Amino acid sequence: MTSSPPPPFETLVLATRNAGKLAEFDRLLRPLGVRLLAAAELGVGEVAEAGDSFADNARIKAGWAAKATGLPALADDSGLEVVGLGGLPGIHSARWAGPERDYGRAMARIHKELTHRYGSFARAERRAAFRCVLALAWPEGGMELFEGVVEGEIVWPPRGSGGFGYDPIFRPLGEARTFAEMSREEKDRLSHRGRAARALLRRLEELFGATGSPGRDADPQG
Ligand code: IMP
Repeated sequence: MTSSPPPPFETLVLATRNAGKLAEFDRLLRPLGVRLLAAAELGVGEVAEAGDSFADNARIKAGWAAKATGLPALADDSGLEVVGLGGLPGIHSARWAGPERDYGRAMARIHKELTHRYGSFARAERRAAFRCVLALAWPEGGMELFEGVVEGEIVWPPRGSGGFGYDPIFRPLGEARTFAEMSREEKDRLSHRGRAARALLRRLEELFGATGSPGRDADPQG
């Protein structure tokens, strides 16, 4: 990707306040060669995540930031889906950590609810996936969606000190370590956000690498 020409915009607004996500985007979108600005730095307030899917929430956040700033805006809506909990916490992943963003509490709740439902954690259905939907909104009104998923398993107790959020209890399939035990680069290679970001980079290369024209005519996806 580094060899492709930069897209014809210089600044991309990131519609997130999550420091962990901002740090990951900073690395993942480096090949674009554009300036990344957090929406909060431009004085854009938060919008209610009123949707009932990752895609809806990503669309709401990206559309809001693009409209407020007049710049292309990217939003991520993501979360952890635990099979034994019927897909929860899912779009409620941030809410399970409460207003104090206490992920120790959120991870303990997953452990407790699995143990309660199956009688013991050892017997619980621990399969899980991290899902990320990225919405890229153009100030003119167009929107594109990109999705990334990584399958894995919930482990207990939490392991590792890297990453953020639920990383210490998520072990990707085929790996011995949790996301929180991996280097940043290893997580990027495997993660839902890394996969979605690479799909976004491919699409921008397709749009701008080949034609050099802006993306306003692109069909919204999803
Ligand atoms: P959002 O900001 O509403 O999309 O909330 C996403 C939630 O899912 C937050 O609670 C995050 O901590 C969690 N989450 C999303 N991606 C990751 C990840 O890569 N690692 C750990 N937790 C994540």
